[in-house]
Amino acid sequence: KAGQSIDSSFLFYSEEMNQRAKEHLRIESELRQALQNNELQLYYQPKVSLRSGRIVGAEALLRWRHPLRGLVSPGVFIPVAEETGLILDLGAWVLEEACRQVREWRDANMITPPIAVNLSARQFDAELPKRIAAVLERHQVQPDQINLEITESLLVRGTDKVIAIMNQLVAMGMSLALDDFGTGYSSLAYLKKFPISTLKIDRSFVIGLPYEENDCAIARAIVTMAQQLRQEIVAEGVETAEQMAFLRELGCDQLQGYLFSQPVPAADFATMLREGKRLAFANR
Ligand code: C2E
Ligand code: MG
Ligand code: MG
Ligand code: MG
Repeated sequence: KAGQSIDSSFLFYSEEMNQRAKEHLRIESELRQALQNNELQLYYQPKVSLRSGRIVGAEALLRWRHPLRGLVSPGVFIPVAEETGLILDLGAWVLEEACRQVREWRDANMITPPIAVNLSARQFDAELPKRIAAVLERHQVQPDQINLEITESLLVRGTDKVIAIMNQLVAMGMSLALDDFGTGYSSLAYLKKFPISTLKIDRSFVIGLPYEENDCAIARAIVTMAQQLRQEIVAEGVETAEQMAFLRELGCDQLQGYLFSQPVPAADFATMLREGKRLAFANR
């Protein structure tokens, strides 16, 4: 009897793995087509200053409009793209599209804040600075109009090579932000080695503010030490006025989150800029 149940759970398990592998392959091949069929789109999520309440930046976030499945979230397809290496093509597309958009806004006489794009660790090779310079040049976009968000996995792998590439990007006039900070393994002391100007506190530490003591302590420690390192601090995933009030009190510089706006299509972000949408500090 016991043997039977082991067998059937084994069968069930391998069937599940089989399903996952199939799903993975399907996403991979559909994603390749998506690149060619213009099914990808960038959404923009504003970053707002906790001093002025004004929009001071935005993060470009990839969206996939699947003809049958509708909007597919990056949480589903980025991991597949990372595994298959397709992230290199996706990443190149994102950079190109962000620059094209910035240029289009400038041609329309709009003043836009810096737009941040997410970089996969796999994009981070010796050719990256040259590739980025070529895209900026092609669209006649200044390097300070595009920021780069990287993750801690890159630092942990952190060789002198990675530092050299980062230094090249900074020398070109670009700024680097460390995304999802606190979820990886790098310590703040370690951070000193890297030319990173902004830390983004991960949403998982923001959720519990201001009621979870541990989250408050972590947020406080990150902000305090980042200030010592003269880095800007952005809080991700801010959804409530209470979270905002706490972060403001701590001296956090910017917030990004549903409290102010979800990621929106380019036209909607342009409208927010034009109308001068601002964060209301209602509870203070
Ligand atoms: P991320 O870079 O940390 O982006 C922030 C994510 O948090 C976004 O999810 C955003 O929609 C979500 N978010 C922002 N504010 C809130 C909030 O108040 N509440 C909640 N619940 N969520 C909030 P999204 O757009 O689904 O992207 C997920 C992740 O996919 C990104 O995390 C990033 O790691 C990756 N990603 C997205 N676009 C790209 C890209 O172009 N290239 C690469 N390499 N990765 C990307
Ligand atoms: Mg990001
Ligand atoms: Mg993030
Ligand atoms: Mg995140």
